[in-house]
Amino acid sequence: MEKQYIKKDLVADWESLQRIFIRPEDDASRETLIKYMEQILFGLHDFLNKNVGVTEAISLKALTDLYKETVISPHPEKKLADVISDIIQGIAPRAVNVASPYFVGHMTAAIPFFMVHLKAIVAALNQNVIKLETSKVLSVLEKQVLAKIHRLIYKNSEIFYHTHVQSTDTTLGSFTTGGTTANLTALWVARNLLLKPFDRFQGVEAQGMAEALKAYSLDKAVILASPRGHFSLKKAGGILGIGHKNVIPVDVDAHHRVDVLKLNRRIVDLKKNGKIGIMAVVGIAGATETGIVDPLDAIADVCEDHGLHFHVDAAWGGPVMLSERYAFKLKGIERGDSVTIDGHKQFFMPMTCGMVYFRDPLAMDAIAYHANYVNREGSVDLGIKTLEGSREANSLILDSSLKIMGTRGYGLMVDHGIETAQGFSRAIHARELFEMVTEPELNILTYRILPPKIKEQILSASPGEKEKLEDRVNQLNIKVQREQREAGKSFVSRTRIRQGTKDTEGQVVLRAVIMNPMTDMDILNEVLDEQEEIAKKILQSPEPF
Ligand SMILES: *Cc1c(COP(=O)(O)O)cnc(C)c1O
Repeated sequence: MEKQYIKKDLVADWESLQRIFIRPEDDASRETLIKYMEQILFGLHDFLNKNVGVTEAISLKALTDLYKETVISPHPEKKLADVISDIIQGIAPRAVNVASPYFVGHMTAAIPFFMVHLKAIVAALNQNVIKLETSKVLSVLEKQVLAKIHRLIYKNSEIFYHTHVQSTDTTLGSFTTGGTTANLTALWVARNLLLKPFDRFQGVEAQGMAEALKAYSLDKAVILASPRGHFSLKKAGGILGIGHKNVIPVDVDAHHRVDVLKLNRRIVDLKKNGKIGIMAVVGIAGATETGIVDPLDAIADVCEDHGLHFHVDAAWGGPVMLSERYAFKLKGIERGDSVTIDGHKQFFMPMTCGMVYFRDPLAMDAIAYHANYVNREGSVDLGIKTLEGSREANSLILDSSLKIMGTRGYGLMVDHGIETAQGFSRAIHARELFEMVTEPELNILTYRILPPKIKEQILSASPGEKEKLEDRVNQLNIKVQREQREAGKSFVSRTRIRQGTKDTEGQVVLRAVIMNPMTDMDILNEVLDEQEEIAKKILQSPEPF
């Protein structure tokens, strides 16, 4: 696939190669670099402003056809300026404008403009916080930021934070790549604490699951979690060697919250068996699909009674702690032995950033690893107790953004999300064609299109007929969501919600996540109008669905 000719200024030679590692000295080259930066900041921004829509209307087939070349050119093909304008013209319009206030379907949305600057700074410094030798102050800053967020969660004494903020012997938590690895880290710690070393047994981390179970005379180890738990919990079950089938769903009540009495009974039963180790109980603070919060305080009571590790998955809901009005919804989070919070969700950080916190500053010793060339024992190297190896200095972004907005600023964004979601729920209730499925406890809600006529039929139908009608409603909702998405003006997502732990497929629901401060009721009513229009068109067509 050799190109016929090589452009004169696009040659991979040693001299030009070296130039890209040298900071430009003269004014002209500096100006060029600044111009490129402007293109990134404003070229992209203009695109987002011009396209109120969510993405360019192009089919996935047509799109994939454009990306089938697999040979890498041996010669340089483009200059930076061309690469950037290609990205602005060719990639950006076909990406998803997650910043659109009409994009209310996922946990990824607009970020404050300054995040781009902060991210660029992190890239420019290119620190690696795996060890002090490649990050210095950024490792120290990370410990400080971890202590700040830990303090938000656990509200320990001044002395506690004074002791631990920069202690080289203790760890209050760690930054991770996301909620998945934060959950994995928390459950990794929980596993190693359950199957810890004693006498001549060196612990599960050293000797593996088979020998650990034998040493503890157990048949297996399990994690108990809500069936609404994020699938990262199952992944953790797989990775940690207990098997994802042993991430056991516990019963939930009519509001999809963990039923604490039944949880307690389950634990008592498992303990009676005597051969099953319970690694952890997981409570969710802001379920991914519905935004519901488990009764954290009550689960904490149960865990305390039975001496179990209580993990709170607050990947989504964590920052609700910053809201003066709604922080109460997370009551009990401070009793979690470990807590997951995502930075790239309601801390409005750029992709990707997660965090995990531990109540006990010594808990993370259970996953400590040392190596001779890095992470020497007794050093402050953060990489000693993290799942990840090399890591970017994400704490700088969170710290700066907390300085720019304050806890109040974040709190106001949380309030807006929750209150707009409540308004959205009222608007849905007011429309005949819709039915609310899960009310917004935080800023996520699910609903579906349910034509009044079909609703009536369902009420008086036999079980068999009812199933058929429900299936038709499911198909209708799938179609509406798809058509709206493909029209590219607005976006809500779609999922299935099951009642309880039943193994049925569940109802198809539309899911809205309200986190963009620019999303208001006018926009949401437009979203509903569009859905109504699509649904009516489908219902009126000769062969509806
Ligand atoms: C998003 C989410 C996760 C996973 O986080 P990632 O950052 O996507 O890895 C885990 N739990 C909950 C409740 C979530 O909402």
